[in-house]
Amino acid sequence: MWLGKLIAYFLKFFYGAAFYRELSQNRAKLYFAKRIFPPFAVGQTWGDIIFIKKEYSGNQKLIDHEYAHVLQWRQYSILFLPFYILASVYAFFRYGPRNYYSMNKFEKEAREYSELVVKKS
Ligand SMILES: [Zn+2]
Repeated sequence: MWLGKLIAYFLKFFYGAAFYRELSQNRAKLYFAKRIFPPFAVGQTWGDIIFIKKEYSGNQKLIDHEYAHVLQWRQYSILFLPFYILASVYAFFRYGPRNYYSMNKFEKEAREYSELVVKKS
């Protein structure tokens, strides 16, 4: 997704990210990052580009979670970003400031996906 790719291109520098590998799941690229914003984030996905904090490099469940976001980017294309933000706003008012992240529809979906993948293997 070109928008995700463009944002990821600039974030690579800010995140001090180095390419690690291409995921076997068609063309998603995994980068290890020195830092990610917001600071509480350990992973982040922009289009086909996944950033994972270096310390979490061995965390396959996290990689699977972020890969679910790659699939969401592919499904919604340029609309993914506004949809994600809207889902956060909705979850904020519905579930409160502490739960808006975890109750975001796209985060729930990614969590379920990573749990499914873990069960399968
Ligand atoms: Zn997520």
